[in-house]
Order: sequence, then structure tokens, then C-alpha cells
Amino acid sequence: MGEKFISTPSRTKEILEKYSLGAKKSLGQNFIVDTNILNKIVRTGNVDKQTNVIEVGPGIGALTEQLAIHGKHVLAFEIDERLLTVLEDTLSPYQNVTVIHDDILKADIKETVARELPDAKRLVVIANLPYYVTTPILFEFLYADLPIDEMVFMMQKEVAQRITAKPGTKAYGSLSIAVQYYMEAAVAFTVPKTVFNPMPNVESAIVHLTKRDVPPVLLSEPPVFFQLVRNAFVQRRKTIWNNLQAAYGKDTETKDKMVLALEEAEIDPSRRGETLTIEEFGKLANAFAKRDISALNQKNKENLFTGSVILY
Ligand code: SAM
Repeated sequence: MGEKFISTPSRTKEILEKYSLGAKKSLGQNFIVDTNILNKIVRTGNVDKQTNVIEVGPGIGALTEQLAIHGKHVLAFEIDERLLTVLEDTLSPYQNVTVIHDDILKADIKETVARELPDAKRLVVIANLPYYVTTPILFEFLYADLPIDEMVFMMQKEVAQRITAKPGTKAYGSLSIAVQYYMEAAVAFTVPKTVFNPMPNVESAIVHLTKRDVPPVLLSEPPVFFQLVRNAFVQRRKTIWNNLQAAYGKDTETKDKMVLALEEAEIDPSRRGETLTIEEFGKLANAFAKRDISALNQKNKENLFTGSVILY
């Protein structure tokens, strides 16, 4: 280790110069040069010596270093081949880091975790995300079928607001519901542009996601729920009734069934989607599933269920 952390502005500059590294915009490369922010991220994720961490995009290793210092083991996935030699150098003092050269959206995360972290009791995901793939990465972990307790992600502030939004607010929509069905979501803190090299064009925020012990409502057919939620927000300014008719059909039979489903779920059809809670959407989805009201073909159903289609 030099005497300075990787995240100090001068050390980052040295590393970038030593390896003639230009940050690749296309890969969302903005490196953090502020150790306080990194420590706040580590604390937000409750990282301790029992915690195994999956990191996406270690970059030149600034966050990885702090995770290695405070955590048990860090498993980091980096897509940019140029960074592998850099990371070997910058992270050489830490024996508890494994860097995998792979695209996180293509990697078999479950298999890699089983191989590299076989005795992982506590597992968290922490990343300063490449912003161009924020939601695909998030959904990759939501559906990864791994015992992940918490996730801490740096992302664009607007996306953070949408993910954590509550009913009745402008930012609340299908993304908020899809994430909050599984996780409790909160903005931990916002981050100024000045902590990055190079500085991004957008404001950033840290989102803290904590796995729910039980979902807000049990779903008889999860794909029906996720499709319903999306359909309810197609035209935000329209009522739920108008959006549902547009998505499921205006024929008498479908309309009659939808009226009954709305009654059963105790939802006034003149409300807008943005006023419905997750519980209400869940009740309505179960009432739809019971009456076999569906705008889905089988292929969509499967894709929605496995999360293999990124819809957000
Ligand atoms: N963790 C470093 C930090 O905080 O300074 C760098 C964060 S930078 C915003 C995003 C990192 O993600 C880059 O290192 C980039 O190469 C990497 N990356 C981009 N797309 C990726 C993908 N699909 N899979 C894995 N890593 C990716």
C-alpha cells in the first residue's frame, strides 16, 4: 500500500497517470476521490468482519479497498480488461479480495458466489454503479436467488428518488413498486459531483435496500402483479380504470370481471395508479389472477417471472 488510500485525489491521479488510463464514459467510469464518502457507504451497508461483499465495477479499487479493510471478503466483478492489472497492483496489500473479469449482466453470479464465498453467512451487495445499467444490475440481484440481506448502491439521484418513492408522489411508479415489493428502500444520503474524477453530469445518491422478512402482500401469481403495476402507469395522468381498459380490453366480459376485481380489492376505479399502495396493487393482482384477467402471453409471463426482461 502506498501511505495513502487509493481514494485520495493525489493517489488516484498517480494511478491514472501510471497506467495512462482515460476513464471510459461508455462504461460509466467515474472514480470516487473522497474517503469520507466511501466510509459512509461502508457504514450504510453495516459492513463488518462477518460480512461478505459483492461489488460491481471496482474501477481502480477505491471502494474495494475500504470494503476489504472493514469486511470479511470482497468479490468484485469488473468488465474493463484494462483495470485488471491496475487492480492487481492497487489491491495487492489485501488478501481478502477476488476480482472477476466479467460483465455482471452476463456472469453466473450464483455459481461464482458458491465457488468464491462458500461459507458466506452474511452477504451484501455494494457498488458505485455504472449509471447506464443501473436498473438491469439492480434487477439482476433482486432475482439472483442469493441470501442477500442488504444492498447499497450509488446511482443517479433521479433514479434513486424513483426507486424509493412513496405512493402519492410524482416519482412513485412501477420501478418503485417492483423494487419495494422485495426490499425496503431509502435514500441514505446524496453525493455531490465533486467527489468524482471525472465529474459526472448528474447528481448522485446512495440508496439503501434491506430485504423484507415478509412481502407486503402474498401474490398468487407474481407475473400478474408486475404486469398489472406496469399497465396501471402507462398513462400516469389517466385513472386506473382507463389504463386497465387500455391494457386488458374494453369488451363487456373483461370489463365486468375488472369491475368485480376492483370491488373485491376495494379500489375506486377513478383513482390514479400513483395513489395505490403496494398492498392495494397486490390485492388487485390477486383478484385479477382469480378471474383469469390477463394481458400476458405465456412468454411474457415467464420473462417477467425470471426477471430476464428488463422492463424499467
Ligand atoms: N468502484 C469504483 C469507484 O467507486 O471509484 C468505480 C465505479 S465506476 C462508477 C463503475 C465501474 O463499473 C467501472 O469500473 C466500470 O468499468 C464498471 N462496469 C461498467 N459496466 C459494467 C458491467 N456491465 N459489469 C461489471 N462492471 C462494469
